Amino acid sequence: MRTYFVETWGCQMNVLDSQRLAGVLESRGLRPANRSEEADVALLNTCSVREKAVQKVFSRLGELRQAREVLGRPRVVGLCGCVAEQEGRSLLARSAVLDFVLGPGRVAQLGWALDAVTAGERVAVTGFSPTQDYDAHLIARGEGARQYVTVIHGCNQHCTFCVVPYTRGHEASRPLHEIVREVESLVAGDAKEIALLGQTVNAYRCPDTRADFGELLAAVGNVAGVWRVQFVTSHPKFFTDKMIANLSRTPRLGSYLHLPFQSGSDTVLKRMHRGYTRDGYLELVGKLRAAMPDVTLSTDVIVGFPGETEEDFEATLDLVSRVRFGQLYGFLFSPRPQTPAARYAGRVARSVAGERLHRLFALQNIVQFELNQSLIGRRVEVLVDGPAKRGSESWQGRGPDNRVVNFPARQGVRRGEVERVVVTGATAHALLGARVAGEFGGSQVPTA
Ligand code: SF4
Repeated sequence: MRTYFVETWGCQMNVLDSQRLAGVLESRGLRPANRSEEADVALLNTCSVREKAVQKVFSRLGELRQAREVLGRPRVVGLCGCVAEQEGRSLLARSAVLDFVLGPGRVAQLGWALDAVTAGERVAVTGFSPTQDYDAHLIARGEGARQYVTVIHGCNQHCTFCVVPYTRGHEASRPLHEIVREVESLVAGDAKEIALLGQTVNAYRCPDTRADFGELLAAVGNVAGVWRVQFVTSHPKFFTDKMIANLSRTPRLGSYLHLPFQSGSDTVLKRMHRGYTRDGYLELVGKLRAAMPDVTLSTDVIVGFPGETEEDFEATLDLVSRVRFGQLYGFLFSPRPQTPAARYAGRVARSVAGERLHRLFALQNIVQFELNQSLIGRRVEVLVDGPAKRGSESWQGRGPDNRVVNFPARQGVRRGEVERVVVTGATAHALLGARVAGEFGGSQVPTA
């Protein structure tokens, strides 16, 4: 076993888990390959939040089986992530190419699973270790100015549509001093932007000192060398007034806040077991905007939840019109195994749900276009990601509000640098910018 490749599906949490898996492999002397079909060890780090993602995993396993038959590689195939936890040992029976299954709570046992495979066994390692085994020194992060740091594992909320509590286990916060130490070591390297991760990141509580998420943010924002702090995902029910006051005082905090509302109807929110009402959500948005006037909110919405009526859906559209989110991720309801909503009556016909999702996106496109147009003339500090997808003449980065900004490449521009641009144009999905020389003295300053 000399090379490896990890394929990643899903959220930022999985991106970081893939880096943790890679770290274990590199500690055993393996080096990265360009793709699974060339690797000795191929890992699929999967997501089970939507049914489609699970189907994609099985079709990918079929491709790897063919590659092994024809090319002799990958020699070892492991299935990791949420599908591994959800389906467990049954996956070994369903796919002959699989050598082992490893749940997201068992990343640290990857070495053990590989040893078992070498000894001729096929193993499934799932469940949750009481200690979570997050080893910050054993993460193959690669180069990058934007780095993720997990602050809280798992989720206790049991929203009725969501599989995460079954695949990632109970909430467990990491000690604040460990997180700060990890951030210090990242910014001592190439990192500029730190994104704090958790399924319910603002439910954070330091197990040693009981410090809350606001206090954690302040501690991270005060680490010398941190250029920008972001965090994802917040749950509306965990923001306290004290925490909101801390947000406005946190140095280097980006102006992007992801706050899923899922539905604008109280009836649906109750059936989703979200723990807040529509009015409560709107009140929270008002408080956040008062504390952070430049904040750009993004959100998640589920369309076609069982029992959703046209009136319920119109309440969702109304909430989108009122709040005017900078970004919105809309999804059709997808019944997931083990979740209560999968057994709910009142399934919404796919054609109806699809048409509603289309209307939601149409509204959001208008909102996004108007908001982006209103930014023309602003000066923005952009963390450079690299060449834009379309055309190498143009490069791309993200501003403090997480908006994509495209700008003409200048000689010598590099990934991970901070580029200062003035916004010269906008579509619904990106801003166009032109480079500005010199310092701004702020992360995003209106010119007027
Ligand atoms: S808060 Fe709800 S939607 Fe989010 S991870 Fe937990 S159970 Fe899933």
